Amino acid sequence: MDEFDFINKVKPTRNFSKQVMVGIGDDAAVYQPTNSYNQVVCVDTMVEGVHFLKNLSSPQDIGYKALAVNISDIAAMGALPLYYLVSIAIPSTWTEDELIQIYEGMEELSSTYKMDLIGGDTVSTSDKLVITVTVIGEAESHVQTLRNKAEDRDIVFVTGTIGDSSAGLSILLEEIENIHPTIQNYLVNRHKRPIAQVEAGQIIAELERASLNDISDGLASELNELVEASKLGMIINEEHIPVSKELRSMQDVYDIKKWILYGGEDFELVGTTSEREWDKLKQACTDRNITITKIGVVTNQHHNVLLKNRNGQMIQLKKSGYNHFNNK
Ligand code: ADP
Ligand code: MG
Repeated sequence: MDEFDFINKVKPTRNFSKQVMVGIGDDAAVYQPTNSYNQVVCVDTMVEGVHFLKNLSSPQDIGYKALAVNISDIAAMGALPLYYLVSIAIPSTWTEDELIQIYEGMEELSSTYKMDLIGGDTVSTSDKLVITVTVIGEAESHVQTLRNKAEDRDIVFVTGTIGDSSAGLSILLEEIENIHPTIQNYLVNRHKRPIAQVEAGQIIAELERASLNDISDGLASELNELVEASKLGMIINEEHIPVSKELRSMQDVYDIKKWILYGGEDFELVGTTSEREWDKLKQACTDRNITITKIGVVTNQHHNVLLKNRNGQMIQLKKSGYNHFNNK
């Protein structure tokens, strides 16, 4: 495969943004930032065999997810995604067609946000495919949805439903079986095609104050990150954590709690805001058909996330509880 031929094939024929001065084809990309906006940048890497398996995900799914996880980080900063760059290390086990399909998966998602692919790097490797995506976004300069912005007595909220993605992964890995095909499709799709909560992030960014995190490592882990950064505590009501009817339907046979608390990769948003602002947030989300749920409150109990279960018992929610999820 010829590197330059490949780059030409993945090069977009046009850019959405007029602010891109130089796209793919020179030594580096050049774009003009918007006046009075902050530039928000993140990068995430996916490694074959660690973050995806070639026999379980299509190249399109892999590309889609490599970009989606970055857009989720941008959303958690209350920013809008604008540009992306892709560095790819290619082993000989991947065909050019498959690589182009990875880009198609990214393009499918990026076009919905009118994001431009503005550069990247192409190298060969002897082993597994590695794909690194960088996303550049912008937020109005007053926006600061940081992890350390929680305050005592804040409402703790999450978007969407929690636990679906890792239940989907368990299905893919055949750790569980005999799941109804409709439920199976729903959960596996939640794993392969996560939807970054950009619109919710924009609504949260307009609040007077909010702390925010996206759920990549699991709800327990992200809640602990919020309390650590804010030097506070939380009480989470287990019964209030939103769970899809699909995942709920499995609760008699499987321990769904481990997926809900420790699973991760839902790419929903979790955060806190004042009680007064919560009503505003809830209404704004309802108006736009975005599910957002109060799951608990912030306390001044230093660094402690407590989970109140169905029986009213309090247990401390540690960052991770199920070891077999650590090697995911
Ligand atoms: P250089 O040697 O100056 O780094 P390259 O030959 O690596 O240039 O890249 C040429 C152009 O193609 C640059 O604009 C670069 O950003 C872009 N590019 C290279 N690889 C990729 C890729 N895998 N995906 C997207 N753009 C790429
Ligand atoms: Mg290069």
